[in-house]
Amino acid sequence: MRNGLKKDDIYSYSKLKADLEALKEKFPEQIDLITIGSSVEGRNLYALRIGTGKKAILCHGAHHAREWLTTYLIMDFIDHLLTDCSWPWLTMREEWLADVSFCFIPMVNPDGVTLVQEGSEKSQYQKELISWNQGSTDFTSWKANSRGVDLNRQYPADWESIQADPGKPSPSHYKGNCPLSEPESRALYQFVQQNHFDCALAYHSSGEEIFWRYTLPDHLVHQHRSLAEKLAEVTCYQLIEPEGTPSGGGFTDWFLTEFKRPAFTIEIAPFIGPRPVPNHLYKQIFEANELVLYTIASHLRGD
Ligand SMILES: [Zn+2]
Repeated sequence: MRNGLKKDDIYSYSKLKADLEALKEKFPEQIDLITIGSSVEGRNLYALRIGTGKKAILCHGAHHAREWLTTYLIMDFIDHLLTDCSWPWLTMREEWLADVSFCFIPMVNPDGVTLVQEGSEKSQYQKELISWNQGSTDFTSWKANSRGVDLNRQYPADWESIQADPGKPSPSHYKGNCPLSEPESRALYQFVQQNHFDCALAYHSSGEEIFWRYTLPDHLVHQHRSLAEKLAEVTCYQLIEPEGTPSGGGFTDWFLTEFKRPAFTIEIAPFIGPRPVPNHLYKQIFEANELVLYTIASHLRGD
């Protein structure tokens, strides 16, 4: 279990890699660790599965570079699921894993996270990155991958009509020249096509909100609402009811449209402006999200 991070600590790709390999060593029977693809700059995109149950929950984080605290949160979930002997984790581990399985992709955008945390020096795109960043070497507000594409605007759900697209590589919001042009979003897309998931959870970090509807027709809104309301209740985050036409291109938008099964984008922090979530908020973030996996698993089991 994780104790949070000190003020200027980071949770980096290399730390993630070391932690995942150590977990695999320590729990060889309980977890399945695979690489589902690699990033533009060759970093691994890891997926870790716990449980053998047919009901499967996907949980991923850090599509957006500066939102890397979501990776830390997901690693904390994994630690609790493997080792915590208190409720609800023990119940999930000892009684539910034959019915329910959890698949975690803690860091969808490792190049972007590295850029935010360590700057552009090690990137093969250093020159371009600085120019896309308006000449600045401060990348702390960066959301995109290392080609300046916003990975959460890459999915084939109304991609053509995405709003506020800058039309060129940028720190955020550039949708790319076609859906799934980037290896990170393509790897996730293919992995989700090849594996059955009953529910998908996308962790983002701004607004303490839950997106869950997109453009779902009424009968599906009706079907998904009870789980959405339970999640709002356990997190105390606000459920978003879309007004007007939502923009599209996001992972959750695509999952909802394609599979018609519940999917949620959970924004874990209050609005803090264009920067990484301050580490001191972590404790309250963990507490707010502690029952999320339990709530979804319980719902899928029909409890
Ligand atoms: Zn985000």
